Amino acid sequence: MNTIKLAQKEIPVVKETDVIVVGGGLAGVAAAVAAAREGMKVTLIEKTIMLGGLATAGHVCVYLPIDDGAGHKVYGGLAEELLHICIKYSYDNLPDEWRDCPESAPVEAGRYMTNFNIPAAVLALDELTQNEGIDVVFDTVFSEPIMEGKTVKGIVVENKSGRTAYMAKMFVDASGDADLVYRAGAETETLKTIVSHWFHELDFNIMKKGIEEGNMLHVTPLRWLGLVPSGGAGDEKMDLTTDGTTSEGVNEYIRLSRGLALDFLKKHLSPDYCMISMPTMPQFRMTRRLIGSDELKYDGEYHIDHSIGCVIASLDQPATVYEYPYEGLITDKLTNVLAAGRMVSAEGRGWAIMRFIPACVLTGQAAGTAAAQAVKDGVTLQELDVKKLQDTLEKNGVKLHRTKEMEGNKPARRAPGGEGKRPEQPEIDRFCVHHEKDDNVRIAGGEH
Ligand SMILES: Cc1cc2nc3c(=O)[nH]c(=O)nc-3n(C[C@H](O)[C@H](O)[C@H](O)COP(=O)(O)OP(=O)(O)OC[C@H]3O[C@@H](n4cnc5c(N)ncnc54)[C@H](O)[C@@H]3O)c2cc1C
Repeated sequence: MNTIKLAQKEIPVVKETDVIVVGGGLAGVAAAVAAAREGMKVTLIEKTIMLGGLATAGHVCVYLPIDDGAGHKVYGGLAEELLHICIKYSYDNLPDEWRDCPESAPVEAGRYMTNFNIPAAVLALDELTQNEGIDVVFDTVFSEPIMEGKTVKGIVVENKSGRTAYMAKMFVDASGDADLVYRAGAETETLKTIVSHWFHELDFNIMKKGIEEGNMLHVTPLRWLGLVPSGGAGDEKMDLTTDGTTSEGVNEYIRLSRGLALDFLKKHLSPDYCMISMPTMPQFRMTRRLIGSDELKYDGEYHIDHSIGCVIASLDQPATVYEYPYEGLITDKLTNVLAAGRMVSAEGRGWAIMRFIPACVLTGQAAGTAAAQAVKDGVTLQELDVKKLQDTLEKNGVKLHRTKEMEGNKPARRAPGGEGKRPEQPEIDRFCVHHEKDDNVRIAGGEH
């Protein structure tokens, strides 16, 4: 490939602040809120024009369970708060037994999970970040770190005003794709993921049924095209798609996923039918993750001294409860950058566990809290007093360790709804997620 040399030029420093969060998905929102609540001045840089990331722009409006499927709440703190914020101004299908945030509920009540309306969630997230005094900068892409040894002093961003710099003491990378930690020189791993296309639709026949039932979720269901992850990383189906960390991969993904949608539309061309929404961000599950100083342990070792909270494979019922280590958010290569969300350190099936929305919010909360503590104590992330971090997280509702009741959980089956659901027929189910089997086969293109 040819190269050209750019002339060095001075760029304006727009802001000097305490904590910068790159990426305003649910993990980034949680990190920003947690840091702001610890008294930090926080700037959140987001490349789209909405908060929520995959959960809103990517149409993944299914907040998977925060209970263990045996009646016990596993995620408290911001993971629980954001679930309720996502449904604050519109419909939901949260079981009533969980509505008041109890610690437990009868198993028959169903899982502590919900679908939510995307515009209402976006507006509620705007309101939340404004109330917390967070400076959200939309339509702005992080492009490169300003380094001094192993420390990030600032970031260069690109937006309508051109190239500018933002400086801070601590950074949280919640870009989903590990853009900041990768460009700052940390070790990372990439993974190709499968093609999906989720969208909302209007179908007169389905609408009629939904109206009769008085169920808004059934009136405008969410349809799901593309492949489903069937076994987590290591499954051969996972290799069928593109790399979300290159321009070519992203464009290939868009071509494939929109191709699926167009084929579907042609097949269902009718005056009774229309699509009413389209994801505005590619629906990549896993792209690039940090290789941190530690990672999720899920083979036998359950108690983690430096746990920042419990996590579960949300779709398993009951779900085995694991503990996630603080060191999974950091790397020895960088003194002042934490990872949050679907890009935290975890290998194999661990990555699939850590990318579910509740786990993303948990690591966001832990990263934002740790960043604030490091600023206040004037220490690097490696020097951080982890016990003090744990005390703050626990005070703010996070469950650090498994309880006796959770220890016996062994998954017997997968929970209904979410991406584990593979109905044979595309019919309305409780969570209004459809899966077109034919399209699934077609996109595989004989590559199985
Ligand atoms: C098809 C699909 C189905 C799924 N199903 C479910 C499900 O049913 N339930 C569930 O709980 N989870 C599900 N997941 C997983 C879950 O949706 C995501 O893992 C989670 O929402 C990720 O949150 P995040 O904040 O870590 O990252 P993202 O949501 O990816 O947020 C990253 C944010 O960073 C921004 N950004 C990226 N790069 C830059 C940059 N350079 N500069 C500035 N901003 C940047 C992006 O615009 C985005 O807003 C699914 C995922 C997919 C793709």
